[in-house]
Amino acid sequence: MSTTDPVREPLTGTLIFERGALESRCVEAPVLDVPPVSLGEVLGGQARTAPPVLPHVTEVEIARHYEHLASANFGVDSGFYPLGSCTMKYNPKVDEWACRLPGFAGIHPYQAEETVQGALELMWGLQEALAEVSGLTAVTLQPAAGAHGELTGLLAIRAYHTANGDPRRRVLVPDSAHGTNPATVAMCGYEVAQVPSDGRGGVDLEALTRLLDTDVAAIMLTNPNTLGLFDENILAITEAVHAVGALAYCDGANLNAILGKSRPGDAGFDVMHINLHKTFGTPHGGGGPGAGPVAVTEALAAYLPGPVVVRDDVGAFTLRTPERSIGRVRSFLGNFGILVRAYTYIRALGGSGLTAVAEQAVLSANYVKELMRDSAWDIAYDRTCMHEFVLSGGRLRKETGVRTLDVAKRLLDHGVHPPTVYFPLIVDEALMIEPTETEGKATLDGFAAVLRAIAEEALADPGLLQSAPYTTPVRRLDEAGAVKSPDLAWRPRGDVDA
Ligand SMILES: *Cc1c(COP(=O)(O)O)cnc(C)c1O
Repeated sequence: MSTTDPVREPLTGTLIFERGALESRCVEAPVLDVPPVSLGEVLGGQARTAPPVLPHVTEVEIARHYEHLASANFGVDSGFYPLGSCTMKYNPKVDEWACRLPGFAGIHPYQAEETVQGALELMWGLQEALAEVSGLTAVTLQPAAGAHGELTGLLAIRAYHTANGDPRRRVLVPDSAHGTNPATVAMCGYEVAQVPSDGRGGVDLEALTRLLDTDVAAIMLTNPNTLGLFDENILAITEAVHAVGALAYCDGANLNAILGKSRPGDAGFDVMHINLHKTFGTPHGGGGPGAGPVAVTEALAAYLPGPVVVRDDVGAFTLRTPERSIGRVRSFLGNFGILVRAYTYIRALGGSGLTAVAEQAVLSANYVKELMRDSAWDIAYDRTCMHEFVLSGGRLRKETGVRTLDVAKRLLDHGVHPPTVYFPLIVDEALMIEPTETEGKATLDGFAAVLRAIAEEALADPGLLQSAPYTTPVRRLDEAGAVKSPDLAWRPRGDVDA
């Protein structure tokens, strides 16, 4: 690559390894004033024989390099990020402050319990708060992500059935489910049976009844579902599931929609995971380091992974492994820094603040949905939605040849991160929008206006959209290639001894 702009390189320009010069130094080591030792003697066969291949750059070049990389990335602090189901909401900075307090950041999970009572109390308080908002009894904070919570919850269900001498083979999953649900079912050794949705976007009750028998271990249900709809028959569903001795698993990734309004435990769910990153505004971790705690009923508490934090009679906090625990699912005590952030978020908002989160999330989604009425897009299920709603770009595609993927790419040129596309699978050319409760009205108005402007572009010049984006650090990627054959390794230049 040529260095077209030595001051501000494009992302695809030179790598830090290719910059600088051999004589550049970041740090000058002081003259050695102790007797030298031979690394070969100290490390035996483990000592390296050639120096490591490190970039030769000055300190300010390193600073600029990372500053540039950081600004090439898109995040919720840089622009609107209405990624449906993923809840990319603003993460309050006070949470970052709290988790960096030396009393939290400087401790170690192997410290004696009596020296970390404050940290254990925080975990206990978070367990209690999650039990309260979920309407369930016992909580584990170990899982590192939502999908990891699913695995944990379903393994607990399997252990429960096995302990009852009734292992069962099948788990029901609606066709609107997040892809992690059927994946979890398969990983736990169960067969997936798909339940169709009805015309209103909820579970088809008749089909459910046909599928239910004593070989069904559980149903995994997202409520509100990925269409942003609260299932109107939720009580009938959990009742029918329990009637055949199966358990009800709630995918509670999007608990932000119902905080303080409705509790899955009250609706008859036995197990749920809660994505702290989607509900309580902690950073998403790309599959970890996030947190996906699992809450369960009394009947399942004994199967949770350990350790969980318990408070004894005199108010001391200790770690305990539940009696019939499925075992650990994560090292140490889970992602403690994330737990501190979530606890801070909960305490900063309080009960009425958390309820306001749900109200605002639902109001924002319905507001944007109404702004999209009579546009080039169709509202897939035209009902009052919860935290998100789904548009279909089917008509736009028919009229202009422009696909939802092209619209998504063009949104990047307008400074908006694209919504989730082509999911849920049951909506043609789906565009799933979740504005979240943290955005102001002006941003929501601006987004709706941009979507309408893009529809006009599609009518006038479809090719413009089909080649978008134009303003991003990299243009349109070969997405299949990026997944199937990524080339992530840097190979040293010939003039550096590898
Ligand atoms: C995000 C999400 C998951 C998975 O959570 P991760 O933390 O990304 O593993 C599962 N189900 C639903 C409905 C989700 O939105």
